Amino acid sequence: MDNAKELKKQLFMEVKNSGEVLSEGEMKKAFDYCEGYKEFLGLCKTERAAAMYAIGMLEKHGYKPYDKNRQLVPGDKIYVNNRGKALIAAVIGTAPPSEGMNITAAHIDSPRLDLKPRPLYEDNQIALFKTHYYGGIKKYQWTAIPLSLQGGIVRKDGTQIDVNIGESVDDPVFTVTDLLPHLADEQNKRELKNGIKGEELNILTGSLPYPDKKEGEKVKLNVMNLLHEKYGITEHDFTTAELEAVPAIKVSDVGIDRSMVGGYGQDDRVCSYAALTALCQTNRPIKTCVMVLADKEEIGSDGNTGLRSDFMRSFLADIAESFGVNPSDAIAASKCLSADVNAAFDPTFSDVFEKNNTAYLGRGVVVTKYTGSRGKSGSSDASAEYAAYVRKIFDDNDILWQTGELGKVDMGGGGTVAAYIANLGMDVIDVGVPVLSMHSPFEVTSKPDIYMTHLALAAFYCVFT
Ligand code: MN
Ligand code: MN
Repeated sequence: MDNAKELKKQLFMEVKNSGEVLSEGEMKKAFDYCEGYKEFLGLCKTERAAAMYAIGMLEKHGYKPYDKNRQLVPGDKIYVNNRGKALIAAVIGTAPPSEGMNITAAHIDSPRLDLKPRPLYEDNQIALFKTHYYGGIKKYQWTAIPLSLQGGIVRKDGTQIDVNIGESVDDPVFTVTDLLPHLADEQNKRELKNGIKGEELNILTGSLPYPDKKEGEKVKLNVMNLLHEKYGITEHDFTTAELEAVPAIKVSDVGIDRSMVGGYGQDDRVCSYAALTALCQTNRPIKTCVMVLADKEEIGSDGNTGLRSDFMRSFLADIAESFGVNPSDAIAASKCLSADVNAAFDPTFSDVFEKNNTAYLGRGVVVTKYTGSRGKSGSSDASAEYAAYVRKIFDDNDILWQTGELGKVDMGGGGTVAAYIANLGMDVIDVGVPVLSMHSPFEVTSKPDIYMTHLALAAFYCVFT
């Protein structure tokens, strides 16, 4: 019998819970690391805020805006700010770019409610904002919760106004109303996905009229006037703005054991933070290490700040050319970890998961070989060779890792930026943090998983093979 026990240990794959594997000291490090993450997550609820935070941290670690006219030398730390919404940074290695670069790519945009270009209206003396949701949301989850309004307004003369209402303790918040159950018989007959419809995601923003006897739309006028006093804007300025309503919910420890982090926008700011901290601790690498924080992933990666645009390729080409290397050769030799979250097994909804191949909370960083839907369609299915390369790095560095798949076959599916990066001609695989309640206003992750993702990305940066 002992023989079988030994043989099983030798032959079977067992994925353990971090609580059974990590020492007390390692667990403490994971918890401590997540304090920094929680601060980042609370401050960065938009792609703009995340990009600015990342630039601040990079500059603290010696990174400077990339100057195309300067010859790059090993040790140089550079970044490019792409329109304040996406970012790419690199520390130049001692090996020439022809040996390839070690690249991580995460995204800093998250699902939310965007204000329409003409958002403000009044209906029966209530002032509201019209919204158009961004990314894949279950719309009913976005009602009856506090929202903050964040983003930027650009005036006709080009000057920019930063908006952030609802995050400070004494700020007012906004909200999308939902119907009381007493009157919801008809609404309750709707399919869940239509429980709240897109055009019902209207944000409550005022109820008092501007003091005047004759004029109409006085509640709208009062709101506009208050915004004018605060920001100097008129209704026209909404047409040249990017204003995002995001959950005004504070980032918290979850669970009596405090083992989890709850908060908005963890897809994919959790991997973004792990990549950022991994790059910042990478000094004098052999291979050039690159970190991409992309925008627009949640709406398909199109657009000039998304990864289907040329901004990543042209940056890599610039580095290659600076050392007289053919850009295509440098890119083909490069390796990438697409750092994005995956779904964590949810015991309450266990039917949609295939138990052997799903990721679990607390069992470490998830390696996802392929995503896609309907037979891996739209996915970059990483090669066995590249999966083995990553497996070796993680095992050599004592990284607790697990495999993941996005639900059962034909249950649904999804994609990441991996496919677009693979299409440039380099090896790429998805790694990241398992998430519960993904794309909801309050996503949940596990502290040891977050820390393991940071360690995994840092180990990947240091590799020279
Ligand atoms: Mn994602
Ligand atoms: Mn997502």
